[in-house]
Parts: sequence; structure tokens; C-alpha cells
Amino acid sequence: MTLLQAPADLEQLHPTEVLRWAFDTYGVADVAVTSSFEDAVLVHLALSVDPAADIVLLDTQYLFAETWWLVEQMQNRFDAKVRVVSPRPEVQRDNLWQTDVEACCAVRKVEPLARALNGKAAWVTGVRRVDGPTRANTPVASFDINRNLVKINPLAAWTDDDMSLYAEINELPANPLSARGYPSIGCWPCTRPVAEGEDRRGGRWAGSGKTECGLHV
Ligand code: SF4
Repeated sequence: MTLLQAPADLEQLHPTEVLRWAFDTYGVADVAVTSSFEDAVLVHLALSVDPAADIVLLDTQYLFAETWWLVEQMQNRFDAKVRVVSPRPEVQRDNLWQTDVEACCAVRKVEPLARALNGKAAWVTGVRRVDGPTRANTPVASFDINRNLVKINPLAAWTDDDMSLYAEINELPANPLSARGYPSIGCWPCTRPVAEGEDRRGGRWAGSGKTECGLHV
């Protein structure tokens, strides 16, 4: 079992230092960095700490064209090596997103993530406390008992202003949907823009009562 071997001041460290600790402690090849390419911040941070970072994108078959555009930008401008993990071959486009979102996320997100993390000692995510009430207490690092690995959230404490400032300083490309009212970006059938003052994840599975895809539970 991989144990959580975190320094006492981990919660106070800059995301760059958190990532350096993660790569040094667990080995860069044994750490998966997952990104939905909602923005470029986590990917840029990870690559700046170690260009060999294992960047993972779950291709749900329903990603926005704008998300793929940002992937290409990061590949072209920052030489990001993105490991695209797809659903199993038997999972073809279907109507599940209209009839059973839990089952749809199970075969398009949860199962592919399990494969992406197979053999890894640690998993780095872009989860932030400001994402919403279900994420308000997110720690920078914890042991994920269900997945038997260390889960690391370097951006846990970052605000939207922190993210914008980092993106500006580093001249990062943005997902074009961000400027069109999408603060949270997932699959196109289950994501809509939000109104001013609305919960930032209020556009995800709107009206269904679902708030998480099953990856961060
Ligand atoms: S977010 Fe929607 S389309 Fe994407 S996997 Fe989940 S239910 Fe399916």
C-alpha cells in the first residue's frame, strides 16, 4: 500500500511545491495528473515542475470541440504529452446521457479513470474548494481508500483570481467556453452556461440533482 507521506506544512505550500513533493515522493512516472482541460493551469504547473508529468484526459466521447482545441494548444505550445484514455471498445455512443446519467458516467468516466490510475501511487487532480459545497473541505492530500492511492489536490485553496492571475502571468490559452459563461466544463450534453451569481457547477447535469460525475466521491 502506498502511504501518504506528506510534510506537516503541505496545506501552506504553493501548488508548484506540492507537485514537486508529489513527484519526488512517489516518482513522476507513478503519478497521474488528470485534467478536464477546463483550463490550462494544472497542466502547465505540472509540466513546469517536470516535463515528463503523466497528463491524463478522459475522452468521454462527448467532450466539447473547444476542449480539444485547448488540448492541441497545450500540445503545440508547451509540448504537453497527453495520455487520452477512452471508454472500453464496447462502449459506443448511445442515449444513456438522456436516460441514465449515473450509468453513462460509470462507463465513460469512472471505469476509464480506474484504468488510467491502475498501478499509480498517486493521483493529482484540479479539484478546488470554491468549486462548490461538496468540495469545500477538500484537503491538499489524502489517502483515497477506495482507489488505494494518494489523492493530491494542489489547487485546493486557489480562488478564481489565483487561477486567472497564474494564467495571465504565464500567458496560457483558455478554453473558449470560459468566456461564454461556462465556469465548469464537462461533456456537452450535460453542461450549460450559468447565470451571474449561480453556483459555478450549477450548469453541470442541471435539473437532475446530480452534482458529481463519480470521480471525486
Ligand atoms: S457527463 Fe453526461 S455525457 Fe458525460 S459521461 Fe456523464 S452523463 Fe455521460
